[in-house]
Amino acid sequence: MPHRRVIVIGAGQAGLSAAHFLARSGLVAGVDFEVFDANPTPGGAWSHRWDALTFGLVNGLHDLPGSSLGPADPHESAREVVKRYYGRYEDEQGLAVERPWRVRSVTPSAESSARFEVTVEHPDGRTRVFRAGAVISGTGTWDHPYVPWYPGAFGGRQLTTRDFTEPEDFVGKRVLVVGGGISAVQFLQLLDDAGVSTVWSTRTPPRWHDGPFDPMWGLDVENRVAARTRAGLRPLSVVAATGLRLTPELRGAVDRGLLVSRGPIEALTDDGVDFADGSHESVDVILWATGFRAALSHLAPLGIRDRAGGVLMADDDVSVVVAPGLFLVGYGRSASTLGATRAGRRAARAAIAATEDAMSATG
Ligand SMILES: Cc1cc2nc3c(=O)[nH]c(=O)nc-3n(C[C@H](O)[C@H](O)[C@H](O)COP(=O)(O)OP(=O)(O)OC[C@H]3O[C@@H](n4cnc5c(N)ncnc54)[C@H](O)[C@@H]3O)c2cc1C
Repeated sequence: MPHRRVIVIGAGQAGLSAAHFLARSGLVAGVDFEVFDANPTPGGAWSHRWDALTFGLVNGLHDLPGSSLGPADPHESAREVVKRYYGRYEDEQGLAVERPWRVRSVTPSAESSARFEVTVEHPDGRTRVFRAGAVISGTGTWDHPYVPWYPGAFGGRQLTTRDFTEPEDFVGKRVLVVGGGISAVQFLQLLDDAGVSTVWSTRTPPRWHDGPFDPMWGLDVENRVAARTRAGLRPLSVVAATGLRLTPELRGAVDRGLLVSRGPIEALTDDGVDFADGSHESVDVILWATGFRAALSHLAPLGIRDRAGGVLMADDDVSVVVAPGLFLVGYGRSASTLGATRAGRRAARAAIAATEDAMSATG
C-alpha cells in the first residue's frame, strides 16, 4: 500500500493553499504528499457556479499564496476566471493534483507507521488505498446543500443553489426563492431582470448590514465563528455570521418591493406554500437557496462529530481535537477565500510537525 506523509483532500482555495505550503517546505507532490480532487477540472466549487455570476458580482477572491490572480474582467463568469487561475496555479506550483478522484473514506490505520488509510475512487469505478501520516481535508460545502424540512409536499419543480444555471430557465414561471443569504438575493435580482415573477421567503427578517465591511468587521465575524467551532458546535450559516451588505442597488430593490421577505414558510402544499402569517402563495418553482453544510462524510469512520453536531476544533482552528493528524481547512472560521488561504498555511505546518512526531515515535 503506498504511503504518503500528508494527503490533501480537495483542490479548492483551502486545499491548494495547504499544498503550496507543503511544497514550499520541501515536500514533493506525488512522493511526500498527494492532492486528490473529486472535480474533473480545476476551480473547486467555483467551477460549478452559475453562468450569470460574473466576476464583478462576487465579493472578491483572495489571492492564493505565491501567485496573484491579476486583473480579471468583471463581465466574465466567475467560474471561468477562477478555473483558469487555479489551473495555472496548479501547474506553476507543481502540485500534481490527482483528479477526478473522490476520497470515499479516511479510517484509522492498523499499521503503526501511519495514522490513516485513505480510500479514493475514480468515476470509472477504480479504487486505490493510501496510508498517510496526516490528512488535510479541504472539501468545502458545495457537495452538501442544505434544504430545511417543512410539513406537506409541493407538486412543482424544486431545485437548490447548486442546480441554478440561468434565469431564462424560469421565464413564464412564478418562483419562490427561499433563503436569507447573498445567493438568494442575487437569484431574486437575476430573475427579476429576466422578467420572472418572484416571491421571497426568509426564516428570520433579512440581516441587512450597512456598516463598513472592513478588517475589524471581518475579524469580529471570524471570532464569532471560531467561538462556535472551538466549542464543538456546527458553524453558523454564512449570512448569519456576515449579514447582507446593503449596497445602494440593493436598497433600491428593497424600496421597490423586490427584496421584501414574506417571512417563514409554515407548510408546503401541492401548488405552493403556506406562510407563517397565514397567507398562501401559489408558485411553479421553489428555489432553495438555503445554504450548505460542511462536506465531511468521508471522515465519518473517524468519529469526529461532537455531540453538539459539529467538530471540536483546537485553538489553531485547523486541528481536530479528537483526531491527531487530521486538519480541516475552509471549515468554520476559514470558510472564505482569505480564511482558507491562511488556514492552508497553518494546516501544512501542523501536518509537517505532526508527521515529524509520528516518525520519531515510530523510530
Ligand atoms: C455562491 C457562493 C459565492 C461565494 N462567493 C465568495 C466570494 O466572493 N469570496 C469569498 O472569499 N468566498 C466566497 N464564497 C465562499 C467560497 O466559495 C469559499 O470560501 C472558498 O472558495 C471555498 O474554498 P474551499 O477550498 O474551502 O472549498 P471548495 O471551493 O468547495 O473546494 C473543495 C474541493 O474539494 C473537492 N471535494 C469535495 N469532497 C471531496 C472528496 N471527498 N474527495 C476529493 N475531493 C473532494 C471538491 O470537488 C472541490 O474541488 C462563496 C460561496 C458560495 C456558495
